Amino acid sequence: MEMTMTFGKYKGKTIEEVYRTNPSYFSWMRENGMTDKLEYQEFVETIPYEYPEQFEWEVDIRSGYQCWKCKKTMDIFLVFNPEIENELRNGYPLISDLAYSKPKSLIPFAKEYGVQLEERYSKVTESMYVMHICPQCKMHQGDNYVVEDNEQKTDRIRRMQIVFGHGVWREKQL
Ligand SMILES: [Zn+2]
Repeated sequence: MEMTMTFGKYKGKTIEEVYRTNPSYFSWMRENGMTDKLEYQEFVETIPYEYPEQFEWEVDIRSGYQCWKCKKTMDIFLVFNPEIENELRNGYPLISDLAYSKPKSLIPFAKEYGVQLEERYSKVTESMYVMHICPQCKMHQGDNYVVEDNEQKTDRIRRMQIVFGHGVWREKQL
């Protein structure tokens, strides 16, 4: 069952209804020190995945990922929700966000950093989604191995914050 607001002017509405009605409401909650509320936590754990282009993300580019097919190494583009603490961001296995749900708008952006993403059909999910492509042999690398449960030892070569606007992603200057 979907969680509903327990206080305020949107009491009884679901988190998604509130976001669709008034997307700045949760920014208002954050600015007013309400990030401990379950409603806010539910918001950060669900809505950014439904509307990825409406949110800022952190990206790590890592080198040394080995293609399962040709065994050559490639760089990978891993996305993280900045509002969720992730102990497996640097670790082993490495778990990042937006598995099976990266927006197509990330394809040209990742390319600027030398990472090839493409929308391809997956037998695992029986659907199309945006996944990594080996630049050497052009074989796709499933998100189950790259994004969801990455057990390869790779090195972080870049970390940045990204934001979407006017139809494109860009690196946010900090
Ligand atoms: Zn390959």
